[in-house]
Amino acid sequence: MNDLAYYKLRPHLSASSVNDYIDCGLLYRLSRIDRIPPEFKTDALEFGSTIHFVLTGFYKEKKLGNRLLLKDIQESFEGFWKEMAQDNPEIRYSEGEDFDTLLKKGRELLAVWHSKLPENDFRVIGVEEPFVLIRRDLSVPIIGYIDLLEEDEAGTIVVTDFKTSGRSYSADEVNKNLQLTIYQISIRENGFRNREILLKLDCLVKTKTPKFEQFYTSRSEIEERRTIKKVQEVWRGMKEGIFIPNDGHWRCQNCGYKKKCDEFLEDGLAEDCNHSNRPAQNLTLSGGNGERKKVESGKP
Ligand code: SF4
Repeated sequence: MNDLAYYKLRPHLSASSVNDYIDCGLLYRLSRIDRIPPEFKTDALEFGSTIHFVLTGFYKEKKLGNRLLLKDIQESFEGFWKEMAQDNPEIRYSEGEDFDTLLKKGRELLAVWHSKLPENDFRVIGVEEPFVLIRRDLSVPIIGYIDLLEEDEAGTIVVTDFKTSGRSYSADEVNKNLQLTIYQISIRENGFRNREILLKLDCLVKTKTPKFEQFYTSRSEIEERRTIKKVQEVWRGMKEGIFIPNDGHWRCQNCGYKKKCDEFLEDGLAEDCNHSNRPAQNLTLSGGNGERKKVESGKP
């Protein structure tokens, strides 16, 4: 696919930056434009990122023809989790959780995932596959990485996104997932135009009894067009300096920008936050590293 490094240095969007903007414009601005560090990191986000590293490693091995054993997967998780979270004062744990409880949960969750993972002959085409989506009807490129790209026995391309969450996804959430729609459009425009495409969420659910759920879905042409239109509107809002605080959104419960947000809403606009007159070309309108911001969670 296209050279991601080039586009990372220029104005761009990503699926998660679009989602962040839609969830809460102010959160988007503080984190991705002002680059203000959050007051804390959530355990859910760090845990999700750790699981993501492990799954990525598993599929990189699968691509080479190796199937990792559960004990290797759990050891890998333990190593990543220690690196990420042990003695890390930046992480704020949810009630009842700490480093050790999540270490145990991660091992259990991966055991369930490993036992439920269907045996298949899908050929792994790409893991963390970079993409750049450029279209005439979009004023800015969308860039990112697709977690997993496979081809099934019939030649269908299967696009997978890994999710770690505290609850199951509903069918509606799967069918309307913006990230998957963007991935489908990018796949079509980057070499797979005439192929059947299936979209899939692999969800590791860290409920009291851990679960692994796979959801398959697809997108029509009209759904693709609606998404492009929506992204274009997001871009327009950003360019015009519209960053609305979505006070009351579920993300407020665990938001690392709560103090800044209260300042903004109660005391007026802080000087260092005022970007309403800044031209778009000076904004880095995405994650600082061009998007490997994972995964999910914190969702109620
Ligand atoms: S507290 Fe809520 S409204 Fe305020 S920045 Fe965070 S998510 Fe947005």
